[in-house]
Amino acid sequence: MNFTHLTALELGRAIAAGDVTIPQATKAALEEIAQRDKSLNSCITVLEEQAMERAEVLQKGLKPGLSPLYGVPLLLKDNLCTQGVKTTCGSKLLAGYMPPYDATVVEKVQNAGGVCLGKGNLDEFAMGSTTETSYFGPTRNPWDENRVPGGSSGGCAAGVAAGFAWYALGSDTGGSIRQPAGYCGLTGLKPTYGTVSRYGLVAYASSLDQVGSLCRDAADCAAVLDLIQGKDRRDSTTVDGNYGGLLASLNGDIRGLRVGLPVECFGEGLDPCVAQRVREVAQVLQHRGAVLTEVSIPELKQVIGAYYVLASAEASSNLARYDGVKYGFRAEKYKNLTQMYENTRSQGFGKEAKLRMLLGTFVLSAGYYEAYYKKALAVKEQVKVGLERAFAACDVLLTPVTPNTAPKLGESLRDPMKMYLSDLYTVPANLAGLPALSMPCGVDGQGLPVGAQLMGPRFGEQVLLSVAHAYQQETDHHKSVPRGGEGR
Ligand code: GLN
Repeated sequence: MNFTHLTALELGRAIAAGDVTIPQATKAALEEIAQRDKSLNSCITVLEEQAMERAEVLQKGLKPGLSPLYGVPLLLKDNLCTQGVKTTCGSKLLAGYMPPYDATVVEKVQNAGGVCLGKGNLDEFAMGSTTETSYFGPTRNPWDENRVPGGSSGGCAAGVAAGFAWYALGSDTGGSIRQPAGYCGLTGLKPTYGTVSRYGLVAYASSLDQVGSLCRDAADCAAVLDLIQGKDRRDSTTVDGNYGGLLASLNGDIRGLRVGLPVECFGEGLDPCVAQRVREVAQVLQHRGAVLTEVSIPELKQVIGAYYVLASAEASSNLARYDGVKYGFRAEKYKNLTQMYENTRSQGFGKEAKLRMLLGTFVLSAGYYEAYYKKALAVKEQVKVGLERAFAACDVLLTPVTPNTAPKLGESLRDPMKMYLSDLYTVPANLAGLPALSMPCGVDGQGLPVGAQLMGPRFGEQVLLSVAHAYQQETDHHKSVPRGGEGR
């Protein structure tokens, strides 16, 4: 049986039914990685032996009534701590770092019978939109290897799209799950802030960071969130979302649901082909009984400036701990303590991380705090209010994920402003702490995947997943795979 094209849930069912064994699935995935990851560079670490050993153990433990994802192989973004397995954050500074513990989400997938195949490449400390700022070299997009897979969870997105794994866990601070999912033709979900524990996720901007999934479809995203969500005493920002089984309640019935299209998200700068694809999504939803409404959220125009001020401010504080004493890399040559810090940080961090730390310390400094940091906080509040107003008039918002499809390698680093601006549709959900999902909705003129984003109110995951599921019952875009990945 050819099982590589299955979704995670389908593979889980095939395993439970005895049609495929866990070692067979794991071996097939590892073979794909061995053959094709030299050019894609989606994984920083591949756990060949460990994964096979675990697969054998899990196979022996197979019995009725286990998790629907029992035995399904996955990738983890390399900013999720894994006990005894290198966790690099795509940085020279942590190139040899072995965490002494597992992140809560890692523990949860392990307890549910997940088989971790390896650690996905990412922009250094998750700062970026292309996976080109990784110390371990850029990841390529399996749809077109001259293009980026998006970022920062680009390794995970490329890996799942290429058929190396059935799903992946990533993190999203300003779009890092949804944007690479969009560029690689996957369904990606960033849950409501606080829904999933951040314990063991290496912090970028703590008030915006959230762990989520990159999958082949909405049903898989529901199953993964069922598994990883929940209150964690080790992360005081977690809450009990009381979802009560997202997968079980997925029925695709969206009759009467109000879908809002924010006018601000269909204006200047948006590729007409992307706009067209997203409008087609609206038509499909209407056909399924949803009611379309146009909404206006003028606050969305301010998001990029506020996001980069806040994210950099928090990053400058979070990254202060990498000083050569407690974690990872330490410079070889120095004359005294101060020089040891200086040399370690100058040699250990890449350009983008340094830029963000400089910007962060600048906006937090005494003379500029009021002018930048406090203003950005005020904008964040306004964005929240604007979105709350919108959610009084509709149940979900439909927007593009990005203004364009995946850029060529090198293009974004030459024009970083354009790259920062391309986050405009994804960052509002982080600023307001809301759930948002990205799903494939066709291709552009060059055959590259286009993503549509659905955003919901706080704890509105069930509605988002329902809408995406209804769309995927009606269309086949989520089933398209890049050339070379036909084996899936
Ligand atoms: N592109 C955004 C940034 O560089 C988002 C990154 C993320 O979500 N981790 O900050």
